[in-house]
Amino acid sequence: MTRGWGHAIVAKMAGEVLLVDDALFEEHASTSNHPERPARLVAARAGVVRSGVTTRTLPPADAERAILERVHTASYLDKLEKLRGVRGMIDPDTYVAPRSVEAALRAAGGSAALGRALATRAATRGVALVRPPGHHAEPDRAMGFCLLNNAALAAEGAREGGAKKVAIVDIDVHHGNGTQAIYYSDPNTLYVSLHQWPFYPGTGAVDDRGEGEGLGTTVNVPLSQGADDDVYHEAMRRVVTPALAEFAADVVLVSGGFDAFERDPLASMHVTPNGFADMVSSIVGAAERTRSPVGLILEGGYDLEGLATCLEASARALVESREIKDEGRKLDPRHQAEIERAVLARSEPR
Ligand SMILES: [Zn+2]
Repeated sequence: MTRGWGHAIVAKMAGEVLLVDDALFEEHASTSNHPERPARLVAARAGVVRSGVTTRTLPPADAERAILERVHTASYLDKLEKLRGVRGMIDPDTYVAPRSVEAALRAAGGSAALGRALATRAATRGVALVRPPGHHAEPDRAMGFCLLNNAALAAEGAREGGAKKVAIVDIDVHHGNGTQAIYYSDPNTLYVSLHQWPFYPGTGAVDDRGEGEGLGTTVNVPLSQGADDDVYHEAMRRVVTPALAEFAADVVLVSGGFDAFERDPLASMHVTPNGFADMVSSIVGAAERTRSPVGLILEGGYDLEGLATCLEASARALVESREIKDEGRKLDPRHQAEIERAVLARSEPR
């Protein structure tokens, strides 16, 4: 059976998806017309329901201080505590509402619990529908709509569950400066990001490859605007899946932003729901070769119907054995050159 272009699909749905969700995640709400809004969560939930995957809900608890301090500084966490009950802006992009800190602690705890469940094999697939998002949050500051770094907390949860090596593949259209900063010198965390470039937040150059013992475990694939499914397919095939195969993580996490979607109002990429499904399938395929469980943590995605449809396709790809033909695709010279640069950067000596 085939569907779409170039896909040989084994139509088999396997296993259930552990789902992290909480009503508190809707309480993070701006009074202005902010794109990072509670309706995103409603759309994301609808996407998972529409996917038809079997879900089991993991009721999240708040993240404890000890695990938070493995990702963020004590002084930043203290500052955040003082914002309970407050409404205002932390920076020109990032708001807090009276229950935002509670929501962020619950999102962080849910992400950590998902990481733990994957590492202990209580589940082999998971989705965390968390808000506020996380990948711009740095050790010592909130940024870019993000308060606490959920993907990093999932990685640390996985470590509590016994995982040594954790890979984070960030498919959000923005570079995850926070996640990169947290793990820049850590040889046991692979951080791979595909992102629009030049673009917010300005980090994620192809030559940023980690430092010290972590040199080579940061992999950036900056792509200029207009990248479509074929460009992302080639980036996965040439850079991301080889990096995953070489690293052989115990747990693979996806920073699942859907703002590279073709109609997203914040970015300029042209990825379709099928393109997102292809990316997730590539990641799952690579993870399966090392028998690693896979969890997706929601990041951005600001077109509501796009978010629902992309998450629907991605949730299905998470549980399907959906083989993608490992064939090259012809790209425009600009994107081709960008991918060659990323391939070259990854081949440089450590
Ligand atoms: Zn984003």
